[in-house]
Parts: sequence; C-alpha cells; structure tokens
Amino acid sequence: MVDHEISENIKRIRYNVEEAKAKYRKSDDTVRIMAVTKTVPYGRVNAAVNEGLTLLGENRVQEYLEKKDFYDPKAEVNFIGHLQSNKVKYIIDSVTMIHSVDSLKLAYEIDRYAVKAEKRMDVLIEVNIGREESKSGVFPDRLDELLCEVSELKNIRVKGLMSIPPIGRSEESFEKLQRLFNDLRSSCYKNADMDILSMGMSSDYVSAVRYGSNIVRIGSGIFGSRK
Ligand SMILES: *Cc1c(COP(=O)(O)O)cnc(C)c1O
Repeated sequence: MVDHEISENIKRIRYNVEEAKAKYRKSDDTVRIMAVTKTVPYGRVNAAVNEGLTLLGENRVQEYLEKKDFYDPKAEVNFIGHLQSNKVKYIIDSVTMIHSVDSLKLAYEIDRYAVKAEKRMDVLIEVNIGREESKSGVFPDRLDELLCEVSELKNIRVKGLMSIPPIGRSEESFEKLQRLFNDLRSSCYKNADMDILSMGMSSDYVSAVRYGSNIVRIGSGIFGSRK
C-alpha cells in the first residue's frame, strides 16, 4: 500500500470517529487514534506519523526493537501486545504506556525496572471480557483484586482498562466494559488515575467510540491487511 492510500484511510477513520463522537459522546471528550504497527515497515509507519497519528501501538518486542530507531521522533509508543516479564527491560525506557498488564507478576517486573529507570510507568489492565481461554487478560470477576494489588506499586500508575472482545461480540462486550469501567470506584486504588478505556480495532472502532473508548487501536484499517 502506498502512502496516499494510508492518508486516505486515515482521513476516513478520522471522519468516522468524529461522526460517532458527535452522535454519542460529550463534545469535550477526546478519542485518540492509535496506529498499530505489527508487520508494517517503518517507512509506512512514518507516513502515518506524518499524517498526525503520533501514537503507535507495538505488539512484539523483537520487531519493535528492530524498528524503533527508524521511527519519526514525533512518535510516542505504547506497548499493546502480550508481554513476558523477562522482556520488560527491553521496552521500559522507550514506551510511554503498557496496555497489556494482566498479572501481578508482570506488574512487579514493570515496577522493578521503572524504579531502575527512575520513571513512573503508565499501565492499563487488560480485561478478558469474553472469558476466552485463548486470550490473555484478567477475568472481569478478578479485576478488582488485581487493580488493588497493582495500584500498590509506587512506580506504576494505573490509567485504565484495555480489552480485545470475542469475535462477533464487540458491541455487547464494549457495553459491558464501559459499565465495568464506570463501576470501578474502589477506595483501594492508590496509584491509579483511571481515565483511559482502550478498545476498538479496525472492524469495530465506531462501536467502541459509542461505548466510551478513548483510544482506538487500528492496524489493517490504516495500513492494509496483514499477510
Ligand atoms: C493487531 C492489533 C490491533 C489492530 O488490529 P486491526 O484489526 O488490524 O485493526 C489492535 N489491538 C491489538 C492488541 C492488536 O494486537
């Protein structure tokens, strides 16, 4: 796919997001469009950054490390893929948020390396909203407990929730997540400042915006389908 197609795709997605926002959301709500870069060469990623999509989502540590030095310095990178505890050290310095925290063990490692890096890492808790065996994420009934534990860690700040819904059940899942998010008002959350709901991908971002998403994560809708 050539750069002008990327530009057209971004225009269309922006239009759809704005339309859904106008219909369903408060006028001062913001929804960020993240460009999800897996399998996409850095040159095309930079074409999207150049169009103003400065928030990038990375899935794979190895692939990210190979591409990151070539990214436009305007880009801000979030990690969104399944993260093994032993890989935290490779990304701690260069990403600004990790969307995929689903265990206390992983949170401990992030906190430990954040202390070393003298930073505070923003994280989202990944929720397995459809309780699917094949997916990562904490089950909804264990969310409260994990949130309380993770928010004890001093070099982590919990910013919200992320989820990937079961195929074909986006709408009901987004509605459920929005309710879950709005109901999280427990007093045990120390280092938390919950204002981000990361949900919606190429096929369902309009519905996600309707149910309160403020980061939609879009890959193929911008860059074309992955092989
Ligand atoms: C690949 C991926 C996306 C984007 O998927 P598309 O359907 O290509 O838009 C979003 N979030 C996560 C976690 C992903 O792995």
